[in-house]
Amino acid sequence: MAGKRDYYEVLGVDKSADKDAIKKAYRKLAMQYHPDRNPGDAAAAEKFKEATEAYEVLSDDQKRPLYDQYGHAGLDGMGGGAGGGYSHAFHDFSDLFGGGGFSDIFENLFGGSGFGGFGGSRSSRKNNNNGASLRYDLHIDFKEAVYGCKKDIVYRRNEACPECHGTGGQPGSSPKTCPTCQGRGQVNRQSGFFVVQQTCPTCHGKGTIIDKPCNACKGSGVYVKQQEISIKIPAGSDNGRRITLHNMGDVGTNGGANGDLIIILNVRDDRFFERDDRNNLYCAVPISISQAILGAKIDIKTLDGRTITMKVPAGVQHGSFQRIRGEGVPYDDSGSKKGDLYVKIMIKTPSKLNKQMQQAMEQFMESEKPETSPDLMPLSSLKD
Ligand SMILES: [Zn+2]
Ligand SMILES: [Zn+2]
Repeated sequence: MAGKRDYYEVLGVDKSADKDAIKKAYRKLAMQYHPDRNPGDAAAAEKFKEATEAYEVLSDDQKRPLYDQYGHAGLDGMGGGAGGGYSHAFHDFSDLFGGGGFSDIFENLFGGSGFGGFGGSRSSRKNNNNGASLRYDLHIDFKEAVYGCKKDIVYRRNEACPECHGTGGQPGSSPKTCPTCQGRGQVNRQSGFFVVQQTCPTCHGKGTIIDKPCNACKGSGVYVKQQEISIKIPAGSDNGRRITLHNMGDVGTNGGANGDLIIILNVRDDRFFERDDRNNLYCAVPISISQAILGAKIDIKTLDGRTITMKVPAGVQHGSFQRIRGEGVPYDDSGSKKGDLYVKIMIKTPSKLNKQMQQAMEQFMESEKPETSPDLMPLSSLKD
């Protein structure tokens, strides 16, 4: 630990600084040197790490006195300081930054999952008997998302063991108070200079143990079930939509709540249609040069396979959009409210003319007398 800077110096505070002053100083540095704000800047990352480490120690009622008395050496061997010591300070971040946005950045930074217990990672917090919430990525077609659909899915979830009804014990036996922790679920462990609390290794935080484990589930109280369910995807759903089915995640144990099943929609692109975030659909249709000049009625196949007729006005411009009201994405449960369909007009110039067409065009040109030295168009035309 040689060459380490003094933590007070790192944060730029006095040795007598109170908790608020330390928090303020750290907050300022964290905002300034946060890696997200200084991408690729190794020096800033180092400063951020240094400040975080200093804050972790100076904001801790147990570590700060040790540091004050013994300096960096006082913190040796406690797993804190450099490297993996962030977990403790982690709890302070949400309060430090008022929750929400910035703390999310910290979660990413320190490898937490944004969803806590979500994503199929069945990591349980201490004393947490709640079942895990599960994530299911459901892939559906564009059309299915727009008009809604029903999907049958199969997934694995922990269900209460039918033999022991989730108790984990053999019939007739009952859970006993854990002798290691006397039911507290936590034990004290000596670590370096002081005592830390950790989850009881005997009962894993439950506070009780099973003396005669259930034969079917080996005492876990749960078994893995292939769950089949049918889900209704509402019309107007878009990519990334979450549908939460309460209590359909893992079963809770010892009175804990069930987790949820969270369906995340993954919508495949369509070949011909796309949508915006205002429930409008877009497609493109080719028309001939004479249709563009004289106007026409064009039949279009909609996303749901119907044929509708679009009126193209005479003199329509290439690249312009024709709006067809009420042919967009339905966006309420009854399906009566819909966005619009925008059809991009693509004028196709014929490359092969027969004799009659050739003569007609020559006549047309003669009377049109098109500009042979036109002014340039403004740059915005390049983006069309
Ligand atoms: Zn215990
Ligand atoms: Zn069982």
